Amino acid sequence: MNFADSEVVASILGESGFEKTDNINLADLILVNTCSIRDNAEQRVWGRLDLFRSLKRKRPSLIIGVLGCMAERLKEQLLESDKKIDLVVGPDAYRDLPSLVNAAGEGHKGVNVLLSREETYADISPVRMDTNGVSAFISIMRGCNNMCAYCVVPYTRGAERSRDPHSIVKEAKDIFNHGYREVTLLGQNVDSYLWKDSETKAISFANLLSMVADISPLLRVRFSTNHPKDLSDDLLYVMTQYNNICKHIHLPVQSGSSSVLQRMNRKYDREWYLDRVKRIRQIIPDCTLSTDIITGFCGETETEHNDTISLLKEAGFDFAYMFKYSERPNTRAARHFKDDVPEDVKTSRLNEIINIQNHLSAVSKKNEIGKSFEVLTEGVAKKAISGPTMTGRTSGNKVVVFEATDVKPGDYVIVTIEKATSATMTGRISNQ
Ligand code: SAH
Ligand code: SF4
Repeated sequence: MNFADSEVVASILGESGFEKTDNINLADLILVNTCSIRDNAEQRVWGRLDLFRSLKRKRPSLIIGVLGCMAERLKEQLLESDKKIDLVVGPDAYRDLPSLVNAAGEGHKGVNVLLSREETYADISPVRMDTNGVSAFISIMRGCNNMCAYCVVPYTRGAERSRDPHSIVKEAKDIFNHGYREVTLLGQNVDSYLWKDSETKAISFANLLSMVADISPLLRVRFSTNHPKDLSDDLLYVMTQYNNICKHIHLPVQSGSSSVLQRMNRKYDREWYLDRVKRIRQIIPDCTLSTDIITGFCGETETEHNDTISLLKEAGFDFAYMFKYSERPNTRAARHFKDDVPEDVKTSRLNEIINIQNHLSAVSKKNEIGKSFEVLTEGVAKKAISGPTMTGRTSGNKVVVFEATDVKPGDYVIVTIEKATSATMTGRISNQ
């Protein structure tokens, strides 16, 4: 999400005559786009700001700005810190950047952390940065209306709003015409995407997905993140109708224990989640499934932790992001519950979960040996097998490495999987 936002910022500044440089020593302006989701994300930013401050000591005219969720959450602390910050700009105020940068150039602090109920940056064509020229992100909505007890997002990114579908389709067409072959539609809860205006009938996420998939069968469409409480059968059926809608769903469960889910205010229980998994498997048998897990949430008992382990095994995730609970100030959990699982217990529970998931991820890859997949080539592999080696992904989002001579990024190839480790699958092109 931040990556997509930085591309919007680059576009807004580009329109005002700014140019991006890859050499920090040439920069007149340094912006850091920040995340507040866990404390360690914020700590990394504070560390980075130290480096920028030392650059500014040598070059006092350098302008330093903090963007995104930390700007929103910690405005005063950032301005009062000794980090010599000139700009503090929240996620909904990026259109104001050119004038704030000018003000900073004249020695005034530039601050705008107003959240908006409308801003979606719909008309802005993001400047693609650091891409492989094949895959791009498109933000389809902003903010979040779910109040998960542990989560800072609704406070830092504001209320949920959906972006005009026509601007989304236009952006996707545009990047397809520039050679891109994959878009990932982004939102905190894509299932609640909804667009209504006086001319069009209401457009749901399932409708939007087919509009984007209709652009070309050569354009792969991915999306993230789904919320288990809202994932509809309608969406699953739309996925089956298009070969180019990738057969992968990221469905964060957070915990396998119904009592923890209730404390988290996730609005579903273990049975509901497993029923959604069952429907996915029934309707799209070859769909891969990934998830997010938080270990050591307030009050988590050993039994509740074991429920997460058993759910991991029952759902058989292909991949998971796993985190230790990190208390975020002013969230519901911080106000109402005690962060009472000791750090060493959080760590050992996390390690246990990581070990189990690593095993499941390896099994998921090993199961593909002997099968053939359509792979979208993304680039040259870091490690060669023997000859020239490329890397790409299956529709299910599994990375495949294969030897190839005449294949370039953006090409589709059929690859038969021959080997699999817990990290990668290796295969051979079978259509050449
Ligand atoms: N909107 C998405 C994800 C948002 S943040 C969703 O609802 O699934 C990405 C992930 O970060 C979450 O799924 C959760 O697993 C994790 N996360 C969020 N807040 C956290 C916290 N306070 N401590 C640890 N992990 C957290
Ligand atoms: Fe945070 Fe929950 Fe919204 Fe995801 S759905 S961003 S976890 S509040």
